[in-house]
Amino acid sequence: MAYQFNWSIFGHKNQLKFLQNIVNSGNLANTYLFYGSRGLGKKYTVNYFVQSIFCQDDKIRPCQKCHHCRLVKKNTFLDLYRLGKQGQSLSADELRYFLHKLSLSNVSGDRKIAIICGGENINLFAANALLKTLEEPPRQTTIILISDDINSLPATVISRCQLIKFKSLNTNDMEKWLKHFDFSEQEKETIINLSFGKPGRALKLMEDKLEKFKQSCDFIIKLLSGSTFYYMQTIDKWFDVLKKEYPNFKVYELGDLTKEYLDLFELFLRDLLWIKLDRPITNVLYVDQLKRIAPQFTKDDLLNNLLSLNEMRQKLKYNVSPQLLWENLFLNVK
Ligand SMILES: [Zn+2]
Repeated sequence: MAYQFNWSIFGHKNQLKFLQNIVNSGNLANTYLFYGSRGLGKKYTVNYFVQSIFCQDDKIRPCQKCHHCRLVKKNTFLDLYRLGKQGQSLSADELRYFLHKLSLSNVSGDRKIAIICGGENINLFAANALLKTLEEPPRQTTIILISDDINSLPATVISRCQLIKFKSLNTNDMEKWLKHFDFSEQEKETIINLSFGKPGRALKLMEDKLEKFKQSCDFIIKLLSGSTFYYMQTIDKWFDVLKKEYPNFKVYELGDLTKEYLDLFELFLRDLLWIKLDRPITNVLYVDQLKRIAPQFTKDDLLNNLLSLNEMRQKLKYNVSPQLLWENLFLNVK
């Protein structure tokens, strides 16, 4: 039986074909491991895959209309088990309890499927519990692991799984996907440049129509175009506000709050350097502003600062005052 598939997923062509063949054949392995960096759409794809397996329609999978489709969507389908959230770690107890429950539960249909997210953060004890289940899987059960970082999973677990690797989308696929969103061409180009083929990252940028991103960019531009005095004053005010807002925060926690700006600062320094070297920049949305302030900086200064930024990131980890760090950062640039 060959179904029609209406998975609204861009890119990952081979992976989709592979999974859809499984749905067609009904031949499921005991364990799959979906892996690849965060934001590529692994979980999103798993949802379509699982829904298509449970769907009862003869032609289209998933039909989104049948009883099973609706239950899966509401996450109340009896044969579907889920554990964990992406990016959050799983404790050994949580995992053990989940696997125990899974082994005892009955199957109401043909098979049960368990989706385990965040498997990369499990410790040795949890890994052992998982390995035991993978070695002797409960009857009629398929386990799907989703991992952002396969390198942190024990080799013994990986070797038991059928691997499905997710890679970054190419620019072409990103462009096709972004056609469905209401953004200017320049905005789209910036989103593509900044999301590195990861739809999840692009969605994060787009969730507020780039509002937060633009605000942060304006702030950095202001910092870079103002005088040293203005800069120092702003940094001072900025940290005053942070300290008031988070009175109990430790130094490194304030540092965490400014990390995002550090990334953006790096982006601006790199784009400024690229303008001087006549290379295409990343943040095309700000090309005019960047060109306007570029003459204030020398190539050497920009390059040296980019090199020292990494060092600064390291220092943030070791409790160096983030305010001091920002001050030094700027004194070096100017
Ligand atoms: Zn259905």
